Amino acid sequence: MKRVGIVGWRGMVGSVLMDRMRAEDDFSVFEPVFFSTSNAGGPAPPQARGERVLKDAFDVASLAGCDVVLTAQGGDYTSKVFPQLRGSGWQGHWIDAASTLRMNSDAVIILDPVNRGVIDRGLEQGIRNWIGGNCTVSCMLMGVGALYKAGLVEWMSTQTYQAASGGGAQHMRELVAQFGTLHAEVRDLLGDPQSAILEIDRRVLARQRNLSADETAQFGVPLGGSLIPWIDKDLGNGMSREEWKGMAETNKILGRGEGFGTRPVPVDGFCVRVGAMRCHSQALTFKLSRAVPPAEIEAMIAADNAWVNVVPNTREATLRDLTPVAVTGTLTIPVGRIRTLAMGPEYVGCFTIGDQLLWGAAEPLRRMLRILL
Ligand code: NAP
Repeated sequence: MKRVGIVGWRGMVGSVLMDRMRAEDDFSVFEPVFFSTSNAGGPAPPQARGERVLKDAFDVASLAGCDVVLTAQGGDYTSKVFPQLRGSGWQGHWIDAASTLRMNSDAVIILDPVNRGVIDRGLEQGIRNWIGGNCTVSCMLMGVGALYKAGLVEWMSTQTYQAASGGGAQHMRELVAQFGTLHAEVRDLLGDPQSAILEIDRRVLARQRNLSADETAQFGVPLGGSLIPWIDKDLGNGMSREEWKGMAETNKILGRGEGFGTRPVPVDGFCVRVGAMRCHSQALTFKLSRAVPPAEIEAMIAADNAWVNVVPNTREATLRDLTPVAVTGTLTIPVGRIRTLAMGPEYVGCFTIGDQLLWGAAEPLRRMLRILL
């Protein structure tokens, strides 16, 4: 049985990954070895069989004893450990949720329902680095990949509404704590139906503006009752790194653009953090290469994969099926609000949501492990 080293299993992505691996009985097909960056020597989770104690995730020799290393630990960990491990001559497969290695020429971005062909070609070429895509990009392609596969997309603009959990476990806690703090500030006024709404508004705003550095340690500014139109690093050219990933990763996943000898499809827009707990949502605008009626687009999207769900463009269906609360914890990728836009018959808009911890993170990793095993 292959030994699979698992790093980062207790984080946000890692916890969801463990749940999915349990649900799919993945642990029965390999021998898991659990690692930790903070608690080496501590007890491994119950899925451990032979190795019941956590190994040190920085111990290259222990990692090199694994046929596959699967990590959801984060980019700093990958940057530190991956070069040392490869430098030691290790020939195993590295599966990673972090973005560090994504654009390297010896790495494939994995999203097998969309790019199984790219993955299979990588396997034939001896690729050993398999990297999960950006969560927003992966969820988008699970929803509307059919339009790209059909060669219909001339360009796409995306406006995202990304959940707090995209930042990790600590970010999610911070958001809920802020909601609690703001509620506590006006609890007495909320209990009185006669209280003045402007007084509630004023008190909430005052508390938001006075949240301490500790209360905003993760996001830097309040997210509860607000939003943040910047995600990830500042590239210095007016673009955030999250926005840059949209075009770079969409094309690489599809096996297009630089490195594949074809013209990349332009993808651009704004990435915004909102106070949702889980699920990244996005409004998409397409310029298609020809006019396609919405009913035809709906049929193409619906036929693309087993997880996509076309939501009828009605108020009732949208409120029922097209919200982060409805989608969280499911592998379903709803695509709704599909309609031709006022700019012309070849301009189409839609709205899609995905649980970014599932299709945007954990699911492609565990499916890649299954493909390898
Ligand atoms: P995370 O929740 O911060 O977890 C990362 C690590 O933090 C854990 O493995 C754990 O390592 C440590 N940690 C410290 N305090 C913790 C606590 N109170 N609870 C849980 N873990 C704690 O990060 P993440 O969101 O899972 O992201 C991991 C990687 O996946 C990143 O590279 C990220 O960019 C990528 N990713 C994230 C998402 C997403 O939606 N969150 C989506 C796609 C990709 P030890 O056990 O070793 O201490």
